[in-house]
Amino acid sequence: MHAFFPLPARRAALVLALLAGQAGALTLPLTDERVAAQAAAVYADRLAALDAAGQLDPVPAFTARVRRVAAGLIAQAARDYPDTAAWRWEVHGTSDPDQDADCMAGGKILVSQAYVARLALSDAELAMVLAHEIAHAALRHNLRELERALALEPAWAGRPFEALVDAVDHDGDLMARLAPLNVAQEREADHAGLLLAAHAGWPPERLAQYYRKLMRASDRPYFDSDDHPAPASRWRAARALATTLAAPQGQR
Ligand SMILES: [Zn+2]
Repeated sequence: MHAFFPLPARRAALVLALLAGQAGALTLPLTDERVAAQAAAVYADRLAALDAAGQLDPVPAFTARVRRVAAGLIAQAARDYPDTAAWRWEVHGTSDPDQDADCMAGGKILVSQAYVARLALSDAELAMVLAHEIAHAALRHNLRELERALALEPAWAGRPFEALVDAVDHDGDLMARLAPLNVAQEREADHAGLLLAAHAGWPPERLAQYYRKLMRASDRPYFDSDDHPAPASRWRAARALATTLAAPQGQR
């Protein structure tokens, strides 16, 4: 997933309060810096809320595991996507059962222990989750989504930036029009993420197993959702890419 505000619904009030404090600046210009600054502010707010609830990094061994796996991917991202080398990366774990895993713009990562436990993820599968999320951020998917929204509805140019950021996640009409882009971005993050993790040294076939688990855990494995391709098609694509990467030199 890569919602701009990857928050459970019960935290919506917090976000709106945050928006109220910042609203004013118009949507244009849409820049990478603005998107990253907004993400950093929201991330800090998420961490503060989790901390207040006793849900921020409550299990040191889990946070250490996520950071260890993330470190290799972050180092590889600096090679594959050189402009990420200057990011102020942050990696945290949470016991909040309503979170899963995400990397906000600019390298702000949060992973739920419940999500990792529910799918019984191996380190390689956790690397695949993290690499997918890092790919969303490295490929500037939030910025691309805001640009598309502006192209679809030019009136947003005269409205507050924060309201557009909120609308791409919560305005049903706009979300429906952005759905094809969201699905394409998921496929792109699957592909680029698997390549990133493979470059970092993880065996491609073990990375791809994450998508098999995702498919098996899904109650609708053969259907696309509003913003994600069908789990079965993601598993098929990951397996095909892993096979290509695992082929000996000369057979690719
Ligand atoms: Zn995603």
